[in-house]
Amino acid sequence: MKEGPALRSFSEGGPHRLAVRTTAFQAVNRGSTPLEATLILMKLLAIETSCDETAFAVLEAKGGLKSPKLKVIQNLVASQIKIHRPFGGVVPNLAKREHIKNLPILFKKIGDVEDMDVIAVTVGPGLEPALWTGITFAKEIAKKYKKPLLGANHLEGHLYSFLLPSQKSKNPKRDRMFPAIGLVVSGGHTILLKMDSLTKWSKIGETRDDAVGEAYDKVARMLKLPYPGGPEVEKLAKSGNPDAINFPRPMIHHKNYDFSFSGIKTSVLYYLRDNPDCKPADVAASFQKAAVEVLVAKAMRAAREYSAKSVILAGGVAANKFLRKSLEKETSKTGIKLFVPDFDFNTDNAAMIGAAAYINVLKKKRYKLVARGNMNI
Ligand code: ADP
Ligand code: MG
Repeated sequence: MKEGPALRSFSEGGPHRLAVRTTAFQAVNRGSTPLEATLILMKLLAIETSCDETAFAVLEAKGGLKSPKLKVIQNLVASQIKIHRPFGGVVPNLAKREHIKNLPILFKKIGDVEDMDVIAVTVGPGLEPALWTGITFAKEIAKKYKKPLLGANHLEGHLYSFLLPSQKSKNPKRDRMFPAIGLVVSGGHTILLKMDSLTKWSKIGETRDDAVGEAYDKVARMLKLPYPGGPEVEKLAKSGNPDAINFPRPMIHHKNYDFSFSGIKTSVLYYLRDNPDCKPADVAASFQKAAVEVLVAKAMRAAREYSAKSVILAGGVAANKFLRKSLEKETSKTGIKLFVPDFDFNTDNAAMIGAAAYINVLKKKRYKLVARGNMNI
């Protein structure tokens, strides 16, 4: 593998304190590189600016790939929702402007940067002008404080967010959890993964058109609900009848694991046009039932086909309680473990970026420090 700048800066040796921290590890691992030697305990500063949240997190990580243990010391998110709300979606140039404004404000709230072993920043996927603000800022502070800088994949961040501490959502023990099925559902992605381990996976399906979060946002707009629409549709659905309207379940019976959500969205549009006096809560509940049924059916079929021991749910839409409960119900029927991130870590945050960076340090995977809007997993 080509040595990127981040790897070089690791190999050149970090600050004095890092050397002290690594001594014990080196004693039992003769011949290990300074990079591996940091694995005993690593303090990470993570930065996320891929869309409309400017976020910083400080994490302490240890345990290695077998049993990674992550402690979130700080988790700061400056949301731009109010700025984008009048436009009904994220405006890239406004996002860039707000990130540039918020990055130094949040950074001031971070504890001792000298104390960090590594800085990590999202390099994709996302809006490139937004990603660049984080990368540029991270480069400046990495240079100023002489810290190694690592790029992180936002989708890996979502996937690994179940490793972060969870207070409200109780996750089962992580032993014997593979093979696993990963379901990443956000505003930009709907992906099914077959995972053989924490670091080895293959994509088995994804959406062919809209992501499920995008469908939620568009249906919300049709129902005249504010942006972001997912939580609003979920709220409205609570008072509606999920069986009132039989919206289609696209591709639910297809043999593959791909998804399609633009059809449900169009059906909602036509239904609203043809039934102007309908009850919006019934539309929200029926749409949600159709979308979630497809997600759960495909994830469970994949789990059966690959004899999965667990399902990992991740991404902004994983905040949806109806989806969580439906998956909980189906997985518990067959004794499959379900891992979900705590509610703080579903939508975009930097703690998950720290988690992904830690796993990639262990895996020795490096990303170039350039924005890649279409980066995949
Ligand atoms: P991105 O797609 O930029 O990575 P997130 O991972 O933060 O963003 O996901 C945001 C998406 O998640 C939006 O489409 C939003 O509507 C959706 N979402 C957030 N909360 C919920 C919820 N409770 N129910 C359904 N969708 C939700
Ligand atoms: Mg996201």
